[in-house]
Amino acid sequence: MEQRAWNFSAGPAAMPLEVLQQAAAEMSNWHGSGMGVMEMSHRGREFISIYEQAEADLRELLAVPPEFKILFMQGGGIAENAIVPLNLSRGGTMDFVVSGSWSQKSQKEAQRYGTSRVAASTEAGGFRHFPRPADWQLSERPSYVHVCTNETIHGVECQELPDLRALGCDAPLVIDFSSHVLSRPVDWSRVGLAFGGAQKNIGPAGVTLVVVREDLMGHALAVCPSAFDYALVAKNDSMFNTPPTYSIYMAGLTFQWLKRQGGVAEMERRNVAKAHLLYDFIDASGLYENRVAAADRSRMNVPFFLRDESLNGSFLEGARERGLLQLKGHKSVGGMRASIYNAIPLEGVQALVNYMREFEQKA
Ligand SMILES: *Cc1c(COP(=O)(O)O)cnc(C)c1O
Repeated sequence: MEQRAWNFSAGPAAMPLEVLQQAAAEMSNWHGSGMGVMEMSHRGREFISIYEQAEADLRELLAVPPEFKILFMQGGGIAENAIVPLNLSRGGTMDFVVSGSWSQKSQKEAQRYGTSRVAASTEAGGFRHFPRPADWQLSERPSYVHVCTNETIHGVECQELPDLRALGCDAPLVIDFSSHVLSRPVDWSRVGLAFGGAQKNIGPAGVTLVVVREDLMGHALAVCPSAFDYALVAKNDSMFNTPPTYSIYMAGLTFQWLKRQGGVAEMERRNVAKAHLLYDFIDASGLYENRVAAADRSRMNVPFFLRDESLNGSFLEGARERGLLQLKGHKSVGGMRASIYNAIPLEGVQALVNYMREFEQKA
């Protein structure tokens, strides 16, 4: 392929071309240092400046209040499914809102570290909507309540963070925002901890963001590995062990790119427009369908089906020929999925819609 394609992968996913080009230009000699970022000590002044800039930019972009620490960890969202219970369960009950595959995985993994309950689940209905907070069956005094705010596989997004206090619950809310971080603002007054891997909406795999309220740290179970103890990681500014330096650098370049675009408010405007374009087209078509309740549809991950599934192969083949890549749906759901993260502009979604229309007319 001579040109860059429109890449709809769910993750690792498309990154802004400007970011990749800047990284390429700086690959072997960062800012006249005579070294590439991969070759720098994480304790040297060059990398420390990269790290501090990335942290400051993320704090600004997401308007993270001072009482929250930002940690750059390893292990991805799946490791956080263990690390969160190890740090926050304190021997109590953990409540989970099961709205798709990812929150279900989190709930199951937590069972290894304590009592993990399903407070709500939409599994019986095939994960087609986000469970309404008024219907959640919360424990008396949970250690925390876990919500996956964007279900990457089922395409279900929590559009407004639940206010646990309004539900009579004092526990901290834990959110897995892996696949929509930086696509919309976060109301930190409702959150105790947020985590997310970088490879969906930020940069390369290898770095996991954890944003945690300070008072929640320092209560890890005795078995918690030191490298995963939030208090120790925070005390050492994410350098308790060697952090994923290159991934942090790439994430930092993306943060700078986001600031140049106009920040999270501007990304949200674009993401709303992109999602509208695609969902409106799907809803109006006779061939394609999306099965998620309209109010709970993800702006980032759009699973869709061809009503005639025998056309799936030729749909994907034709898409590939036009440079529309990685549209095959997750194996557990089938059909197609278009992930339209921050790095995909409206133009990319328009190219997809044009192809889908053309394919339908020929079908
Ligand atoms: C991708 C993803 C994960 C898992 O991330 P890994 O980096 O593979 O551990 C967890 N939660 C959500 C919502 C995801 O999209």
